This record gives sequence, structure tokens and C-alpha cells, in this order.
Amino acid sequence: MRVPITRLRNIGIMAHIDAGKTTVTEQVLHKTGRIRVVGLVHEGTAHTDHLPEEQRRGITIQSAATSCAWTLDGQEYTVNLIDTPGHVDFTIEVERALRVLDGAVAVLCAVAGVEAQTETVWRQADRHGVARVALINKMDRPGADPVAVMGQMRERLGCDPVPVQAWLGAGDRFTGVLELLGGRVLEWPEGVLTEREPTPEERELLDARREALVERLAELDEPLMESWLQGHDSVGDSEVWSALRRLTVAGRIVPVAFASALKGAGVEPLLDLVARALPSPLDAGSIEGVDGQVRAPSEDEPLSGLVFKVVVDRYAGALAWTRVYSGTLRVGDRVTLSDDGRRVKVRGLMKMDAGAREPVAEAGPGEIVAVTGLGRVVSSETLHDPEAPIALAAIERPEPVVWLGVSPESDPERFADAMGRILTEDPSLAHRVDEETGQTLLGGVGELHLEVTLGRLRDEFEVDVLAGAPQVAYRVTAGREVEHNLRFKRQNGGPGAFADVTLRVTPGRPGQGVRFVSEVTGQVLPREFQAAVAAGVEDGAERGILGEPIEDVDVALVGGAFHENDSSDRDFRSCAAKALVEAVEASAPRRLEPMMRLEVVTTEESLGLVIGDLSKRRGRVLGMEHRDRAVVVVNARVPLAELFGYAGTLRGLSGGRGSYTAAPDGRELI
Ligand code: GDP
Repeated sequence: MRVPITRLRNIGIMAHIDAGKTTVTEQVLHKTGRIRVVGLVHEGTAHTDHLPEEQRRGITIQSAATSCAWTLDGQEYTVNLIDTPGHVDFTIEVERALRVLDGAVAVLCAVAGVEAQTETVWRQADRHGVARVALINKMDRPGADPVAVMGQMRERLGCDPVPVQAWLGAGDRFTGVLELLGGRVLEWPEGVLTEREPTPEERELLDARREALVERLAELDEPLMESWLQGHDSVGDSEVWSALRRLTVAGRIVPVAFASALKGAGVEPLLDLVARALPSPLDAGSIEGVDGQVRAPSEDEPLSGLVFKVVVDRYAGALAWTRVYSGTLRVGDRVTLSDDGRRVKVRGLMKMDAGAREPVAEAGPGEIVAVTGLGRVVSSETLHDPEAPIALAAIERPEPVVWLGVSPESDPERFADAMGRILTEDPSLAHRVDEETGQTLLGGVGELHLEVTLGRLRDEFEVDVLAGAPQVAYRVTAGREVEHNLRFKRQNGGPGAFADVTLRVTPGRPGQGVRFVSEVTGQVLPREFQAAVAAGVEDGAERGILGEPIEDVDVALVGGAFHENDSSDRDFRSCAAKALVEAVEASAPRRLEPMMRLEVVTTEESLGLVIGDLSKRRGRVLGMEHRDRAVVVVNARVPLAELFGYAGTLRGLSGGRGSYTAAPDGRELI
């Protein structure tokens, strides 16, 4: 059933690994009737983790959008759950998913609280202006301390957590929650929701907490303040909910609920909270294209939709997961793809419940559908009305920093086909052929990214792949200033070729790239040949030395010569490309290696070992912060090449308690 836009919720569940994201998702699907038997994560049967590779690893990698229905106050809502991957290697996927969300549920562990990765995803959500509610999960665990967790949220996430419930007991005495608005006591014996009236003591707690909640919200919300000033006791629940909703949508507060997803407790009120507090696509407002065009979430506007994930399906071909922002997308419509301006016919539209598909005829503003029949399509592409072009996002492709040599164990055709499909699905993968060995290289944004890709080739595409050891993508730069001349000449009958180029190459600043200037006049070399030299310098930098591109150099064209009849743009372009490579080769070139910024969370006892190990890995410790519960956060900068297998080592050094996140952080001279 299609619900009005005001009752649509596009949300993501974000969390630190292990906080219980998968379990919460399972429970949401269970309680909304999408699945009857709840899969247990550690048994590898969780519902959204439908890829075999994910099931083996027990982490959620691919984002799947799942729709479910929830009824609140007799009205049906559609909640689209967009699953966001948790591991740092997949941050691009997280970013892409965040772009199409209107709201999110942040799941925190009641014992571990805010962890390094929680901060990372929180900052990402801040950047994308995603409104949030928080769920403090694992209330049943010994040591559960929701007060401490809310303190960490305030201090480390810089947000204003506002509990909408009082929890009843913590640790093994956790039984349920008391709703501050509505006054219901909710409990889950055997995982089944029961409701009862509060006891006299609970009533007292309720009255005090409700009053504090109203007062707090009134301080932030003017309409509520006015009612509150007219009489503290007469402020109705619906007025408080309206204020809470306004403040949540504006990102000024984060309402907090409590749960034990493992025991099936706390999920129904969370869904109520999602419906009550998180924005609908209408609240999320208009979207702006990269060229400043604006589209309102209305059926009367021209069509615009953003493809946020492409999945290649064995039967249906490429499924382009799309969020419609404006207008209506219909089967049979002709739409334009922003990347190459192609016009294509929409063959089919589907909604998806992780595994099962449901064909639909159309999708309106705010809806999320998988589109088939688009042919070649990439994530971040916009689908738009051919008469009203708009690009909603720049198509950015992360640079691969780790490469693996891959070859088929048998069946090369099947291998080529699988590679083609997996490269379409995942734009953060790259491939190239090694010039020297002729081997196919697969590039990715991290070691785990490539491991997971190999696993998918094996399990989903059923091809056996032989893979080499992961290798870091190095670059080279000039070691010292060099001036180099190169002359191309072919004048032995027929059309000749002539180009003469002198380049001066100077080491540049880290991160500047290749900068080119021409220091010759039009008399020495006509403008068009100078432009050809500039293009050739780019070609040469890309070609690089032994497959390693040239970077961070200043290149000046300081001399040249041409021939009236025999010179062409092409001659100058290839001459300059070769001249640059030779110049850098002659400059005692140095290698640049990719660096990573690391945030390691570990225990006090293991701190010495962890730091010793980081320095063995040529890492530089930038800072350390002691946190509560004998936890230390170490910030460091470490060469990517030294990080292969780090997760395992850290686990060993920290007795299984350490974790880390890493993000690319430029390059450095070796
Ligand atoms: P994810 O990595 O965030 O997806 O977390 P999972 O859902 O895989 O949960 C991580 C572990 O915590 C699993 O072993 C779960 O069974 C367990 N877990 C999840 N929710 C709860 C909870 O409410 N209470 C307890 N005690 N354990 C939980």
C-alpha cells in the first residue's frame, strides 16, 4: 500500500560494529511482520545480511533497502530501512546511503557507549543533516549504564540527548520502559509486548520525569513554552510530541529510547518514535542540484531521482536503487541518465524486502525503488525528466589504494563476465592491466574491501579466483630539479613527425598534484602546441614510472622547437608525455606512499604494546586520550602498506578488546 508522503520514513540504522544494528533490524522486520522467525547474527541467518560473504563474516556490507509497515494511532506508516555498512572500508557506501536518508536511528551499546566509530558515523550524519533518534541497546547486559552513555553522547557527540522513556531496571533486572508521554508501562516477557498501568511508585517517577521533559523542551521550543507558561499541568501529550518532532527534525535534540533487541524488548516504542519524531520526505524539504536547481518533494514537479546503489542481478540485470525526490517515476517512462545524458525506458520498478521482490507501477516523491532496464548505470547518477535536466550529486569515485593481481582458476569467460558485473556494482573498485606482466589487477579502497570482493566473486558469481598478495598503490615524485630535452623526429619520406620539448621538473608540495606552466612565447612554440604539451604532461603523469603515477611536481615548459610542415598536436602530446617520464626518471625519483589516519581504541594495560607495535609499523602517534573505564584512544598516522592484517594483531595485543578505524590521509615520501 502507498501511504501519503507525510507517513513515509526513509531511515538508516547506524552504529558501531557490535552495538546490535543487525539484531535491531531483525527485530524491526519481525515486529512489523516482514519475517516470522528472527535470525541470529552469530548463526549467520540474519535477514538483511543476504550475501553469503556477509553471513560468514557476520557483518553487514551491502546496503539493502527494506520496506516495512507500522501502524501508529490507527494510521499506517511506511518505514524504508536503508542498511548502512559499518566497516570503515565501506565509508563511501555509508556516505551514499546517508545522502538518501531523511532520518536515522543511532544504536549504542548500553555498556560500551560511544565508541570511535560511533563518532565517525555521527559526524557523517551531521554533514548530511540527517535527523536522529538514539536507541540505547543491550540494556540487559551486566554493567548497562544508560546515564553514562547519555553523558558520552553529550560530551563526545556534542548532541542533546532527551530520553522519552524511563527504563525499568538495568542489567539482568531490565524488564521494560515507562513512556513519559502516554504513561504506559511496556514490558516484554518472553519477547512479547505487554502493557500495564504504572504502580504508584512508577506513577511518581513518571510525573517527575514528564515534568522535567516538558520543561526542557519548552526551553527550546517557543510554542510549547507558551502553553507551558499558561499552566504546567494542562500541556497535552500531542503538544509535547509536536515540539519534540520540530526539535528533532531541526537536529537540535536527539530523543532517546532503551532496548534489549536480543530479548525482543523495546522495538515497538522505537518504531512509534520513528513515526512520531523523524522527518518525512516533506519535512526534509527540497533538494538542490549541483548547478543550483531546486526540486520540491511534490508530484507536480518534474521527475528527479538519485541512484544510490547498483546491484547486478543474475536474472533482472542491473537494479538501480533509486530515491525519487520529485515527480513520479512510472514503468514505461522515458528518463534521462545524468552521467552520459542517455535516454532510457524504465522497464520495471520493484520494492524489496531484502530477499523478496514486489513489482510496482510507479513511485512518487520520497519513495525508494529498484529500477530495471537502464543498462549501464552507476551510483550517484541522477534520473531526470528529459525536459528538465538536473544532477543531484557529483559522481565521485574514490581512488583505489590497494591492488591485487587476480586471475581465473578455470573458465576465463565466466571470470571476465563476473569482473564486469562486480565493477558495475561497486564504483569504488577499479581494474587495470599490469603493463609488464599482462596480469589483471583489481583495486579497492582497503584490504577488507578486496577480500570481500573476492568472496563475492566466489560465492555469488561462482568463479574461483587466484589472487596475489595485496599491494599498495604507490606514486613517484621528482627527487631534485631537472631540465630535460626530448626531440621526436621522423623525416624519411611520407608524412613526417617532428616535436622538440624541454621541460623543467621541480619537486612540489605534498598533495599539490602535477602543476604545469608554460614559460615560452608563441614564437618559440605556437599556442596549440603548448596546449598539446600540457595534455602530454598529464598523460605522462598518469603513465608514470613502472605503473606508478607521477605526483606532486611542478612542470615548466622552458623550450621547444617545431617544424612548419611535419609537426602536429599529436607529436607534441606524445613527446611531452615521454619527456616528463624521462625527466622524473633522471631526477633520482622518490616514492610517495599512501598514509592512513588511525584511531585505535584500546585498554590501559595493552597501551604500551599497541604503541610499540604502531612504531614498528612506521606509525607516528599524534595524540592520546584517556577515557573512562580504563580505555585509551590513540590517534596515529601510519603507512597503509604497514596495515595489512592489523585488525588481527590489534585483537591479539589487546586481549580482543581493541578496535580501530582508519581513513585515507594523503601521501608521504618514503
Ligand atoms: P552489529 O555488528 O551492530 O550488527 O551487531 P549485532 O546485531 O551483530 O550484535 C552484536 C552482538 O551483540 C551479537 O552477538 C548479538 O547477539 C548481541 N546483541 C545484540 N543486541 C543485544 C542485546 O540487546 N543484548 C545483548 N546482551 N546482546 C545483544
